[in-house]
Amino acid sequence: MRKSTIPIHGGAPHASAGAPVVTPITQSVSFVQALGTADGLKYARYGNTPNVELVERRLALLDGGEAAVALSSGMGATACAMLALLRPGDHLLSSSWIYGGTYKLFAEELRGFGIEVTLIDPLAPRMWRKALRQTTRAIFVESPVNPTCRVLDLASLANLAKAEGVALVVDSTFGSPINFRPLEHGADVVIHSTTKYLNGHHDALGGAVIGTSSYIEEVRRKMIVWGQAPDPFAVWLLERGMKTLDVRVRRQNENAQKLAEWCETRPEFARVLYPGLKSHPDHDIAQQCMDGFGGMMAVEVAGGGEAAERFLAQLEMVTHAPSLGGVDTLVSEPRYTSHASMTPEARAEVGIPDGFLRFSVGIEDVGDLIADFEQALR
Ligand SMILES: *Cc1c(COP(=O)(O)O)cnc(C)c1O
Repeated sequence: MRKSTIPIHGGAPHASAGAPVVTPITQSVSFVQALGTADGLKYARYGNTPNVELVERRLALLDGGEAAVALSSGMGATACAMLALLRPGDHLLSSSWIYGGTYKLFAEELRGFGIEVTLIDPLAPRMWRKALRQTTRAIFVESPVNPTCRVLDLASLANLAKAEGVALVVDSTFGSPINFRPLEHGADVVIHSTTKYLNGHHDALGGAVIGTSSYIEEVRRKMIVWGQAPDPFAVWLLERGMKTLDVRVRRQNENAQKLAEWCETRPEFARVLYPGLKSHPDHDIAQQCMDGFGGMMAVEVAGGGEAAERFLAQLEMVTHAPSLGGVDTLVSEPRYTSHASMTPEARAEVGIPDGFLRFSVGIEDVGDLIADFEQALR
């Protein structure tokens, strides 16, 4: 099956006459158990209920991995993925350009367990090699990066990870498997917040980890004891959302490209960040490793924070809300969301000055999006 078909049919048993076309929700925590054996024990916290098992097969096929585990959120996925890899005394080498929640997990929680964590600038390749230790077990990166839309060169990192025998873990939430499949570029583990593109409708939380069967079993053990299994209804919404993944993401790619090109012609925006623009610092890398440039873009309003606020107040259709990857276009200001804990100076240093706005472009008619931007700017 090709990647546009997998989200609809991947991993499903052949349906016989009379079977429902849509997977029914099995909203049951407990299941009747056979007498005299522990085999086949089913319980929702084990993640082995029918809705979950189908979606896991589908997610594994979509990213080209041996196995997948679905969890209750993206953070639950990252936490269990790392707990399955790292023990006290181990060292984790991570990009510093990561989601705010992931940063807290690494810098506060994992360090609290005696796991050493080094965060480095992902654009300095020599730094990666220098920061490696005898105890390094994993390299973690996020690409494309939130909220700057930078794209990392995975191939060189994969070579380093292979040579050193450490696992390369990639959070590819921003790309979705339609645009970016890290396992094809040498990654060992893929993490998604399925809350975003895979669900696509801003109506259910979820996460996923994809990798080898033996590793995924280890992640599943963590999921069970740390209580991170997904609810069957959330997984049913994920399955339903995934059916349209390919058409949604293609439309979002197209819309974001057109909107970004339009924004580049406007003097009110000092900078437009979108990997599909020739002016983007990682345009060539994105072209090499992605099948589409994604639906995430950012602008820097010329007048700074105050002008950005005035622009936001005038937007009528584009909704001011956190999260991303759904059918509705959303805008957020990182200084009040993911990067609220940093000083304005520290934010500016990582490329997020006041006046920086992040857009998750939806599937509306792009003419209507441009019209909304235009009237707001006016
Ligand atoms: C949203 C997000 C997460 C966390 O996912 P939740 O589903 O909110 O727990 C992790 N990584 C990235 C890149 C995200 O955008």
